[in-house]
Amino acid sequence: MPEKCCVPGCRGNYEGTAEHDQEKVSIFRFPKDPELRAKWIRLIPRENLFVHDKTVACEKHFAQQFIIRFDSVTRTDGSILTVPRKNPKLSPDAYPSIFPNIPSYLTSEPSRKRKAPEQRRLEMSARDEEQFQQWLSDDQILSFDAFCEQLNSFVAGVDSQWVVIRSCGFVNICIVDMPDVPQFVTVVKIHDTMAVEVYRGNLRLGNADLRWILGDECKLFSWSQLSSILSHFASVTVAAADVSVKSQADTVKQQLQELIALTNESDDYEPDVTTRLKFLAEQISLLFMSQSRYSSETLLIVFRFFAISASVYSRLRSTMLMLKVKVKVNVDLYSASS
Ligand SMILES: [Zn+2]
Repeated sequence: MPEKCCVPGCRGNYEGTAEHDQEKVSIFRFPKDPELRAKWIRLIPRENLFVHDKTVACEKHFAQQFIIRFDSVTRTDGSILTVPRKNPKLSPDAYPSIFPNIPSYLTSEPSRKRKAPEQRRLEMSARDEEQFQQWLSDDQILSFDAFCEQLNSFVAGVDSQWVVIRSCGFVNICIVDMPDVPQFVTVVKIHDTMAVEVYRGNLRLGNADLRWILGDECKLFSWSQLSSILSHFASVTVAAADVSVKSQADTVKQQLQELIALTNESDDYEPDVTTRLKFLAEQISLLFMSQSRYSSETLLIVFRFFAISASVYSRLRSTMLMLKVKVKVNVDLYSASS
């Protein structure tokens, strides 16, 4: 005949109840450790509880985390065999905390055991990774239409000085100044191909000024890129004069290239016009080249001067950078162009 549970009002391990419920209610002896035993006695709401060797409390008063129902054995091959225990036992730190028949203020569940540090670290890094992936996918701009849809709320979140002006096939995000005549200080123009151009004052910045954030194609892929562009160009308050000479020269060169393409395609201009434009474009390139390199066209012109009039050639050579070409190079030119 097993001992009855010592908790007042508890019929947890009464035979009749147990059979009726078709469940076996385990009982546990009080711990030997005097400190822990005192804790049990303090917690169990029974006056003058006298504990002897056979005093027991049933499992209904213990949180699940304290009850050990399985044994595990490590096999020789390292795998773990888990077997259910015939009689559950308590973990060494177990104490009773659940007393269904007494007021709730005397019942308190122990706090959940803290997870092992390694387990917590893994969970946290998994959560970080998940959040990072989420951020990455939110950051992607999937299409120009999706971009246009979200643009206003994005710009509003960035900085109020930017104004969005939409047009067919592109969007301008602008900073407008109103001294006498309203003028665009900075314009970030985004085409429906997601190609980006930036204008300061009347000048278009060369792609070199955008490559650091947009890559070689100067295309926008993510909201964070746009955020960087806007904050970069908003923080540098630019008068056009602040734009570097190199950058302005690049702009002029780009415009010249456009003119060259135009005159090339059209019959309205003497072929000579294209040639002269090319010459100018090349001269601008030469301004920023550490070592001069000449196109075959230029070398041909130089050679023509030389062939027609040596005095004209030497005069030009004394005044112009491009003409400091050794004549022997022109021998190669002949074979290349013939
Ligand atoms: Zn009980």
